[in-house]
Amino acid sequence: MPRTRRLAPPALLALMLALGAATAHAAAAPADATARPRNVILMIPDGCGPAAITLARLVSGHPLVLDSLLVGAVETHSADSDVTDSAAGGTAYATGVKTRNRMVGVDPEGRPLGTLVEAAQVRGLETGLVTTADLTDATPAAFVAHVAQRTLQDSIVLQMVGHHVDLLLGGDRSRWQPIPAGGRRRDDRDLLAEHRARGGTVVTTPAELAAARRLPLLGLFGIGTDQIALEIDRDTLREPSLAQMTAKALELLGPSPRGFFLLVEGGRIDDAGHDDDPAGVAREVLAYDRAVALALAFARRDSRTLIVSVADHETGGLGLGRRVGRASPYVMHPESLLAARTSVWRMSGEIVDGGDPVTVAERGTGVDRLEDDERAALLTAAAAPDSARRHGLLRALSEIESRRVRVGWSTGGHTAVDVGLYAFGPGSERFRGLHENTDVARLIAGLLGLDLDAVTARLRGAVERVPPR
Ligand SMILES: [Zn+2]
Repeated sequence: MPRTRRLAPPALLALMLALGAATAHAAAAPADATARPRNVILMIPDGCGPAAITLARLVSGHPLVLDSLLVGAVETHSADSDVTDSAAGGTAYATGVKTRNRMVGVDPEGRPLGTLVEAAQVRGLETGLVTTADLTDATPAAFVAHVAQRTLQDSIVLQMVGHHVDLLLGGDRSRWQPIPAGGRRRDDRDLLAEHRARGGTVVTTPAELAAARRLPLLGLFGIGTDQIALEIDRDTLREPSLAQMTAKALELLGPSPRGFFLLVEGGRIDDAGHDDDPAGVAREVLAYDRAVALALAFARRDSRTLIVSVADHETGGLGLGRRVGRASPYVMHPESLLAARTSVWRMSGEIVDGGDPVTVAERGTGVDRLEDDERAALLTAAAAPDSARRHGLLRALSEIESRRVRVGWSTGGHTAVDVGLYAFGPGSERFRGLHENTDVARLIAGLLGLDLDAVTARLRGAVERVPPR
């Protein structure tokens, strides 16, 4: 692994001030303004492959909003693997450069790369990051941070703060607050208090989000300091939906005098895919599609907004159609997932915490009575040693639903399959066909008149002046 070249927040601040000075020169409108967007909403359904889209459509019984926007597909491989992770995938979409798995906002040698958010700020656009994952998770991080390891989240959050993004909405408050305040920062900084002291608004509930009227806005959600729950488990009074967060982002960024760049991540499709959770994936994709519908309504009204939706990779190796016993493999039962009330992740947690395995599984999956072999598999998993129990329970619970709906999973990780590319608005025709993931950032930068390479050059100049940590 190359030496980490992390960018210290004070240097970033100085950098952004220096970049701000260049704004006046770079802000000339593109020659053909009618064919170019003023605003871009980049939407990333993390881990959502083509089969997840089809499954959500089958479960809901009607076409997705996304379906009408399909224009092409994207190859997702990273610099060092056919199977990308979210760090390299996010970096490709943020910077237009392929990097190695686990790296965020840096090239394969660990050198920082200019991002769409940074380049948009140079041009005076307002910026926002919205996600149902943790705000410091790899995908949003790739747009504002430069670290050689995605797990360096304490550094990521400081870089995020240093960038002065106008709107940040996502999960996991713990990275932003010190231990005495219920967080897990060891440097005693309360980044929420600091945000308020700078005149920003901090919200932590759907009601507070709905009432927020101005930027800069920082929203950190999740019950306690935990992340936002999967849609199927979400407490609607205590945690906002992706659509609610997207609506607020568009309400506040919409009037931006020079336009805006907004990232909206459906961050937890990936988590449901890692758990091989068919009902969880379907519900998560449908929630993402409701956010797409809001973005589309905004773009239709506005007429100068480009929407691009593209996943960073597929998760789970989901296959639709499966031979079970002597039943025909040419039949699926997507309606069987409508009865599920709880994610397999939450069910497995309830069993680990002492819940009766069969009762939890029957209530959560909505299955009236488990088959004998399903009970046996569940009880075997529940009796496994601590280290293997959670994993075994996830597999057993997934199998109860997956066998009924007739889907299979090739992995608990990511896969190399191409993902769908969706676009609407001025410039959307440029996205037709099959692209590399890096093309997406380059196309967006070109349409907005952003210079990613110039930001990269400035970042590297700034980094060389930063003493090694
Ligand atoms: Zn991902």
